[in-house]
Amino acid sequence: MTKVSGKVAFITGAGQGIGEAIALRLSQDGFAVACADINLASATAVAEKLIAAGGTACAVSVNVGDRDSVFAAVQKAVDKLGGLDVLINNAGVAPITPIEDITPEIYRTCFDVNVGGVLWGTQAAVKAFKSLGHGGKIINACSQAGQVGNPDLAVYSGTKFAVRGITQTTARDLAPLGITVNAYCPGIVNTPMMQKVAQDLADNNNETFEWGMEQFAKNISLKRVSEPSDVASCVSFLAGPDSDYMTGQAVIIDGGMVFN
Ligand code: NAD
Repeated sequence: MTKVSGKVAFITGAGQGIGEAIALRLSQDGFAVACADINLASATAVAEKLIAAGGTACAVSVNVGDRDSVFAAVQKAVDKLGGLDVLINNAGVAPITPIEDITPEIYRTCFDVNVGGVLWGTQAAVKAFKSLGHGGKIINACSQAGQVGNPDLAVYSGTKFAVRGITQTTARDLAPLGITVNAYCPGIVNTPMMQKVAQDLADNNNETFEWGMEQFAKNISLKRVSEPSDVASCVSFLAGPDSDYMTGQAVIIDGGMVFN
């Protein structure tokens, strides 16, 4: 691990799951961490955990689907922590969507959060980096479902393919400003999101939760579901100086599900 000092990271969806694990890891790496979430209580609990372990952190409320909310949250974090060096667009939602069940509401909500959240987070980061007079790193949550279409996930997979496209495009657009943009593509991660997806699939098929998890887990080469800390290790690399010469990439961290 390369230790950093004097740097600030802003993480959306930091109240639980992968975002919480990223917050813990980046705090251990030496970052001051802004824990942003639509659920302020959970973001506050995570920030308190980081502070209790000797780190510097704050919690901010954000709805990543709302552009004004994202700009306000990033500014608040800059004011509280005194800077911004890394912004992680991690928050996402994952509705199970058999193709005939997709409604305009499901489509809009999922695209607003998963795609809108990345666009608004990117804009807010660029504004902050410019006003602070330096470049920075933007890191987006993609998925193995953003590399290969997954059954019953047309809307979610669509959003994650979009995230990969935005990552590549903004990497080119923002390089002249000294900003790199990369993404991480987890596989099946043991978080509340994945547990709900597995339960929904099981319910749709009159099966058990364990059966639901197994449908997603059975094709993993390493034969275990990912822990959030596995993903956080990958994000630690993307947030730190060892990835300075890397931009526009969507790194797959899935235990061996997708091979490109
Ligand atoms: P999770 O549902 O466990 O946690 C998501 C967090 O985001 C929650 O704290 C929630 O309150 C917050 N959030 C939701 N909507 C928000 C909004 N509009 N504004 C701000 N915060 C919001 O999810 P997770 O499993 O930790 O997933 C994190 C990211 O990783 C997501 O983008 C997801 O698509 C991606 N991902 C997850 C998996 C997996 O298997 N869990 C796999 C691949 C990719």
